[in-house]
Amino acid sequence: MSQPYDIVVVGGGITGAGIARDAALRGLRVALFEKGDYGSGTSSKSSKLIHGGLRYLEHGEIGLVFESVSERRVQGRVAPHLVRPLKFLVPIFEGDRVGLETMNIGLWIYDTLALFRAPGLHKTHRGEKAHELEPSLRREGLRGAIEYYDCITDDARLVLENILDARAAGADCRNHTEVIGVERRRGRVVAVHVRDRLGGGGEERIETHSVIVAAGPWTDQVAARLELGAAGPLLRPTKGVHLVFPREVLPLERAITVISPVDGRVMFAIPWRQRLVLGTTDTDFDGDPDQVWADASDAAYLCESASRTFPDARFSPDRVIATWAGLRPLIHEEAEAASDVSREHQIYVRDDGVLLIAGGKLTTYRIMAKEAVRAAIRWLNDVDSDLFEDRKPVRPRTKTRPLPGAVGVDPPGPRGVVRLAAELEADEGLAPKTAAHLAGVYGARARQVAELMRHEPELAAPMQPDLPYVWAEVVFAVEQDLARTVEDVLARRVPLLLVGLDQGLDVVDRAARLIGRRLGWDDAVREREVARYRRVVADSRRFRSG
Ligand SMILES: Cc1cc2nc3c(=O)[nH]c(=O)nc-3n(C[C@H](O)[C@H](O)[C@H](O)COP(=O)(O)OP(=O)(O)OC[C@H]3O[C@@H](n4cnc5c(N)ncnc54)[C@H](O)[C@@H]3O)c2cc1C
Repeated sequence: MSQPYDIVVVGGGITGAGIARDAALRGLRVALFEKGDYGSGTSSKSSKLIHGGLRYLEHGEIGLVFESVSERRVQGRVAPHLVRPLKFLVPIFEGDRVGLETMNIGLWIYDTLALFRAPGLHKTHRGEKAHELEPSLRREGLRGAIEYYDCITDDARLVLENILDARAAGADCRNHTEVIGVERRRGRVVAVHVRDRLGGGGEERIETHSVIVAAGPWTDQVAARLELGAAGPLLRPTKGVHLVFPREVLPLERAITVISPVDGRVMFAIPWRQRLVLGTTDTDFDGDPDQVWADASDAAYLCESASRTFPDARFSPDRVIATWAGLRPLIHEEAEAASDVSREHQIYVRDDGVLLIAGGKLTTYRIMAKEAVRAAIRWLNDVDSDLFEDRKPVRPRTKTRPLPGAVGVDPPGPRGVVRLAAELEADEGLAPKTAAHLAGVYGARARQVAELMRHEPELAAPMQPDLPYVWAEVVFAVEQDLARTVEDVLARRVPLLLVGLDQGLDVVDRAARLIGRRLGWDDAVREREVARYRRVVADSRRFRSG
């Protein structure tokens, strides 16, 4: 009989994926179960920033900002294809809660906490100069603007690359597999029960010495399911919505940090992929975490805030091409307004071998993972000092170990990604746009996509005329990137759900045929998959009806 796992991780968002990778690299026996797709929870619904979190400075959360800017540097090094510097501009208007001089001081602190190793130091532009820099800004009352740097990522892919590396290091990771219960003996966890949600609903008993719950906004639900007997809710989730517009609505060169003229909250206008993204909201949410979408009031608030800052841009809900909405898994505490709740994480270690990790952010996932795994090892050692006698955990070296797409990017870092794109053009004859896209998304793994294009030339065709995605990526998603459904492919691997003008509905039938051929679907499964994807698109458009 196979050995029990040391750790079973519940949840395949960025936190769980980071934990599985960290634990597997230490040489632990680890399994991870994700009830949907990897990253399908909050970890594909973020603002996609790897950032220090400028606004946390305002709350005096210096430790969090320092940790975050340090991680920004680490992530840029270990995943340069996924975590890239992005220039930001924060305009300051007369009457803003934070004036130009205070913001300037804040950014000095921000740069200092980054030990002056940010992708670039901040610059202050006063008066008219700010308007020249970004003519789409409202001129009236503009006191100045400050330029600074943070990083942008593809959150879902960051999760996926952690999962791929965890699997390469021996972790047993399964998506569409739900943890439905736990078994204890003499007060200690000995097994979990899981159910495959796609493969006919088969159940399995998985033996383990410990469990780490990394279920993000589902933490309280999982705690109930694992009969943890919690006294009250651990989380106070808040909803955050993003709207996607065609780039022509506001053709920005850089991201703009907007202080909403409606309520003084910080929001962003971000050029992402070929579109412009506006976000986010921050409102208390006490519903079902599986039922979250943008509603009409979210769309109206974001459009109004942005329109007051960019008067000529004509933001309006009817120009929105896509939306996404997620829940911040914030720790419950008594706080006045939702935006004041701390982003820091907490780890709870229970006597029965169940650990919970909650809170945190995408940016600091590596640190959270490290702390959670160390806490689990400490607990395991305490209850069974022989467990690691002949297999002492080693250091995982995640601070320097490249994520899979970065392996072979030479030189390591952004210059290597540019060079890779040039090589794809020269060696594979790819168009510059396609080569830059593939290098930027897959890193050195882009060569495998290019190989598919070479072997089956019809896979080299673009999926849509105004976007760089090619059909080979759909095949790659299934063959290499662990996608199991149409939604997995079109929402996260080749995210036409977020950036396609028709959200991928125009190509869904062909995509389903291509995916189904690889996964052995019959007509009924394929039709069910297409119908399910259409429902996902409809949910993302609910803001149109209320
Ligand atoms: C609007 C918004 C914007 C944000 N922007 C940023 C940003 O720009 N930068 C940043 O650093 N952070 C940002 N964050 C925070 C960041 O996105 C989250 O902290 C992070 O993604 C949480 O990851 P997680 O893995 O803990 O949770 P999740 O990604 O939600 O993962 C939990 C997973 O558990 C799974 N699960 C639940 N129950 C079970 C079960 N019974 N069995 C198996 N699996 C189960 C779920 O399906 C889910 O996939 C943002 C958050 C929001 C909501």
